Amino acid sequence: MYTTHPYEIPFAKAWAKKANVELKMVEEPLTEATVDWAKDFDAVTTLQTNAIDDPEVYEKLANFGIKQISLRMVGFDTINFEAAKANNIKITNVASYSPRAIAEMGVTQAMYLLRQIGTFKARMEQDHDFSWNETLISNEIYNCTVGLIGAGHIGSATAQIYKALGARVLINDLSYDPALEPYAEFVDRETVIKESDIISLHVPLLPSTKHMIGADEFKQMKNSTFLINMARGGLVDTQALINALENGEIAGAGLDTLANETEFFGQTNAPDDVIPADYKKLEAMPNVVITPHVAFFTKTAARNMVEIASNDAVTIANGGKTKNEIRF
Ligand code: NAD
Repeated sequence: MYTTHPYEIPFAKAWAKKANVELKMVEEPLTEATVDWAKDFDAVTTLQTNAIDDPEVYEKLANFGIKQISLRMVGFDTINFEAAKANNIKITNVASYSPRAIAEMGVTQAMYLLRQIGTFKARMEQDHDFSWNETLISNEIYNCTVGLIGAGHIGSATAQIYKALGARVLINDLSYDPALEPYAEFVDRETVIKESDIISLHVPLLPSTKHMIGADEFKQMKNSTFLINMARGGLVDTQALINALENGEIAGAGLDTLANETEFFGQTNAPDDVIPADYKKLEAMPNVVITPHVAFFTKTAARNMVEIASNDAVTIANGGKTKNEIRF
């Protein structure tokens, strides 16, 4: 188990005990410098953003009799698929580890914004102002219309939570899922944009979805609308979002992702010059809440990432097949 994070250790130990597997955990990523540590083992897992580029890694794994690399994560752009193919190394990922984790973070941010907690906090902290007035009066969630763009794993979990809270839920998705009828109405994107008090994005970033929310969309939204983006920063034109917030075209935004987040999310003590100007503008607004791509980060998700990848590793080592294998 390469790139073991401290929060994974209890889940990994519990899995190994239950599965009766000898598990070695190391902090380092899988690279040409560390691949030799896998000798005498039957399978490997990793959760790393460092590329596994060097063909030697795949050659060595094959020589050790290892048939796979199981990623304890969704993204597989770290893999050198050519080298994996040449050495018959199968790759698995964990495509869905806890849709509820991301759904709950989106709803949490929406409710924080709806009750203007950031604004109250700023008034109290900056001015010792403990008063309230007509500009700070809120809507209640069950009177809101919530529009979701994308209702796959995460969007459908989000729809169910908002429905349980009593909100009217609208969904715009390329495909229609009759299982979601009890929770939501399927509508076109324009209806979501124009009618929603909360708009929550749950689509992948593709050429067709890049900047799907830009200046035109903000102009069509109600001034009281909150935008929630737990999916990918590139779905939103960040400069248009800043303009819309500054001009009062929308009421606020909850963001777990930003287009340029790889420049600074995940760092500790990030130097001021690496922090982008657009982030600084957004962060200073009390009606904006930003988290550093941690919507996934729950105990359930961490446990599932460890267990699903580890089970896949054992299955492939034993000559079996798993639905999480990436075709290439
Ligand atoms: P999914 O594939 O299950 O669902 C995506 C949905 O979007 C599908 O139903 C698809 O039909 C729909 N869709 C695609 N293009 C569309 C379009 N142009 N208009 C309307 N609908 C469209 O994916 P998921 O597991 O629900 O994840 C959604 C996104 O959440 C991921 O792509 C990822 O970017 C993001 N995510 C974020 C975190 C986090 O920690 N913040 C964690 C995991 C995933």
